[in-house]
Amino acid sequence: MAVVTLARNAMATRFEIVAHGEDPVALRAAGEEALQEVERLENQLSLYRASTEIAHLNARAAFEPVRVSPPVFSLLQHAAQLTAETGGAFDITIGPLVRCWGFMGGTGCMPAPEAVAEARTRVGMNLVTLEPNETTVRFARPGVMLDLGAIGKGYAIDKAAEILRDSGVTSALLHGGTSTVYAIGSPPGGESWRVAIDDPSGGDCATNGIALRDEALSVSAIWGRSFEAEGKTFGHVIDPRTGQPVSGAAMAAVVLNSATETDVLSTALLTLGPEGHARIAGLRPGIRTLLVCRAGSGYRTFASGW
Ligand code: AMP
Ligand code: MG
Repeated sequence: MAVVTLARNAMATRFEIVAHGEDPVALRAAGEEALQEVERLENQLSLYRASTEIAHLNARAAFEPVRVSPPVFSLLQHAAQLTAETGGAFDITIGPLVRCWGFMGGTGCMPAPEAVAEARTRVGMNLVTLEPNETTVRFARPGVMLDLGAIGKGYAIDKAAEILRDSGVTSALLHGGTSTVYAIGSPPGGESWRVAIDDPSGGDCATNGIALRDEALSVSAIWGRSFEAEGKTFGHVIDPRTGQPVSGAAMAAVVLNSATETDVLSTALLTLGPEGHARIAGLRPGIRTLLVCRAGSGYRTFASGW
C-alpha cells in the first residue's frame, strides 16, 4: 500500500491531501488534479481577485443582470436555500458588514454605530435576484457585496473529493486550512479516519478525535481573526440579522456528507448559538453538531447526533 501527500496554498489557506492506494503514480496524478480544481475555483469565487465571477458580480450586478456560469449559479442558489434554512444566520451578502468590522483582509476593529447601520442596509439575500433561465444575478441596489468566505472552501473540498473518487481513490483525507475536512473511505487497517479538533473546553472530541468515513467536518471559531473590545472578543463571523460579530459562542463543529453544507452550517451554528442549536441539528438526517460557548470563566457544550 502506497501513501501520497500533496499540499497547495489556495483561498488564503493551505489545502492538503493524504491518499492511500496501490499505485503511487495514479494517486499523485489524482491529487494534483484535485488541487488544480481548488485553484480553479479560487479564480472563480474569490472576491479579492478582480477577474473572478464573484468580483465581476460585485462590480456590475447593481447596474444590470450579470450572467454567471451554471456551476456558480447553482452554488448561489444552494447558498440562498441555506440562508432560508438557517433563518438568515448564514448569508453570502455579509460582505459590507465584514468590511465595516475590519475583517476584510484584517483582524477587525470597532466601527461607528452609524457605519454598521449603513452596512446593514446593503446586506440580505432579499437584495439578490437569481434568474434561473438566464443564469443571471441582479442586485437591488449599489453596494451589495457577495462574500463566499463561509462556503467556498467547503465547496472546493467537495469538488476536489469528487475528482479523487472519480479517479478511483478509495482512501483519502483532504482539508482546507483545517477548517473543513473530508474523509474518503477509511485509512488502511482502520474503521474510519480520526480527526482531532481544537475544542477549547477540552471535551471528548479534543481528546479522542472525531470519527469520519465518507463525511465532512467543518469547524467555525472566532479565534484567529478576532479583536478584543469592551471586555469581549469579537470574531470574524457576523450575525447578518443584527450586524454584530459573534461573541458568545466560541466554536461550532458540524459533520455531514457534504463539505459545502458543513462549511455553511458550522458558520450558521456559531452565529445562532445555543438558541439555534436544535434548528441546525434537525436540518439533515445523520448530522452531528457540537457547539462550545463561553460560560463564566469556563465553557458550556451542546452536542447532538453523536
Ligand atoms: P467560516 O470560517 O467558514 O465560519 O467563515 C467565516 C467567513 O465567512 C468570514 O471570514 C466572512 O468572510 C464570512 N462570514 C462571516 N459571517 C458570515 C455569515 N453570518 N454568513 C456567511 N458568511 C459569513
Ligand atoms: Mg463555514
